[in-house]
Amino acid sequence: MKPDTLRLILGDQLNRQHSWFKKKDANILYVLMELRQETDYVRHHIQKLTGFFAAMRAFAVELKKQGHHVLYSALDAASNTGILSRNLSDLIDRYQIKRFEYILPDEYRLDKQLREFCQSLNIATAAVESEHFLSSREAVADHFHGKKQFVMESFYRLMRKRYNILMEGTAPRGGHWNYDVENRNRYDGSPSIPAPRLFDNDIVAIKKVLNKMKVRTMGETEDKLLWPINRHQSLDLLSHFVEHGLPYFGTFQDAMTHNEWSLFHSRLSFSLNSKMLHPLEVIQAAVDALERKQHKISLAQVEGFVRQILGWREYMRGVYWALMPEFANMNFFHHMQTLPHFYWDGRTKMNCMHQVIRQSLEKAYAHHIQRLMVTGNFALLAGIHPDEVDAWYLGVYIDAIEWVEITNTRGMSQYADGGIIATKPYVSSANYIHKMSDYCQHCIYDKNKKVGEHACPFNSLYWHFYARHRDKLARHPRVGLMYKTWDRMAESVKNEIISQAKYYLENIEKL
Ligand SMILES: Cc1cc2nc3c(=O)[nH]c(=O)nc-3n(C[C@H](O)[C@H](O)[C@H](O)COP(=O)(O)OP(=O)(O)OC[C@H]3O[C@@H](n4cnc5c(N)ncnc54)[C@H](O)[C@@H]3O)c2cc1C
Ligand code: SF4
Repeated sequence: MKPDTLRLILGDQLNRQHSWFKKKDANILYVLMELRQETDYVRHHIQKLTGFFAAMRAFAVELKKQGHHVLYSALDAASNTGILSRNLSDLIDRYQIKRFEYILPDEYRLDKQLREFCQSLNIATAAVESEHFLSSREAVADHFHGKKQFVMESFYRLMRKRYNILMEGTAPRGGHWNYDVENRNRYDGSPSIPAPRLFDNDIVAIKKVLNKMKVRTMGETEDKLLWPINRHQSLDLLSHFVEHGLPYFGTFQDAMTHNEWSLFHSRLSFSLNSKMLHPLEVIQAAVDALERKQHKISLAQVEGFVRQILGWREYMRGVYWALMPEFANMNFFHHMQTLPHFYWDGRTKMNCMHQVIRQSLEKAYAHHIQRLMVTGNFALLAGIHPDEVDAWYLGVYIDAIEWVEITNTRGMSQYADGGIIATKPYVSSANYIHKMSDYCQHCIYDKNKKVGEHACPFNSLYWHFYARHRDKLARHPRVGLMYKTWDRMAESVKNEIISQAKYYLENIEKL
């Protein structure tokens, strides 16, 4: 039978539990496509491209096995123009489709493209929910209506109550909403870090296609991909995390250490963002482990983890829809510098930056504090244009999709929104990096020096940042104190620090 309805599945919509797939219908043609417009809108990590394509291919095979009618267009297929709307038009003509349906995309860019495409059609069209998120696109805009700052904590509490997660009636379980005071320790070698659960997915064929099509990528990969590419593997990663990572998740959430790339983190972001896993099942798995008193997991660990998904993840998605498209052009500090070369190859003498960038290029992964307090911190201190910072983060990480990348990068990390998301700019000197890692112990720079030979660049750049943005930050209630400290320094000391920072900024490529 010839299908009369075309249903589009985008690469980050691999949600096997979606109601679309509940029943088989020969009238429906499901379409997945590898698109040049997607491989090229930013320079992606090779593991990100191979990961998404491998997961899409696996999803198409699964749907076919279930008896659905599926058309999969590989990047090098002769009929694939590389442009979503053109491919869709061709298919609609070829199959004489009478109805076009799509799942609401999470990216503004694709949302716009598909809305415009539908307007150009003279057949029936419909957009359906992704059935993935726990709050609507409008939830954050509604919750913070009329407010200048969107404080995540208040949204998180609302979500806890709405989903009755870690609640005792109307009160938070254990009496506190947040257990951060018990969390966020430095890691000093004990307990031992669990070996990360890695997969062995063959990506040789996809790599060949990317090569043949001359797609520009960054980063490195083996012929086997370590990331999960289907629901089965994603569930496996989830149970591995609950057993081995969750017992210490909160305690070492912010810790960084040499040669260990994922510590006690879940590495579930790719499975979540591609929708192979549903956020509620991930949250439930953590809460269940607490209920069963399994693996000696404490409330502080579970609450810390739940907050990331029920709080931060939903919140960032809502912020995205509340503030796009204007958000993508915000540049509160008018930062204009270009991203130094070492973001692309890791060749820098600053050990913290070298470690985090090398790891990102090797694994397409860095955990939150590595992203925020090392690479993000440096970019903000050095005054890099947020467009350049965004492009790097959007390309380099396996989990990078604009709705969650740009809010974290431009908002939380670069403060380019002037403080809608972050309550203060996330900048630090070597102090914080030393407190949370062992990077400084192996660095040519001296963490204790602000000026002179081998002075840590973070130290002078930190004060330079505050000094150059005094007009914007001096009245900020959470950073005003910094200016008191700065003003107490002798003029000669201040001048020396500023000269050191200027020297480093002028010679940034040599750091
Ligand atoms: C500059 C910067 C850029 C970032 N870019 C992305 C991105 O492109 N994609 C992305 O998914 N996350 C991004 N994050 C948030 C966070 O760093 C990653 O979600 C996390 O490191 C993924 O690793 P994990 O799965 O091991 O997370 P865990 O530490 O195990 O946390 C569990 C889950 O919580 C969610 N989560 C945690 N923190 C956040 C957050 N701040 N915002 C949204 N969700 C969160 C993720 O889904 C994550 O999988 C970024 C953070 C920063 C500071
Ligand atoms: S001394 Fe400075 S540059 Fe070196 S690792 Fe520490 S913070 Fe990074």
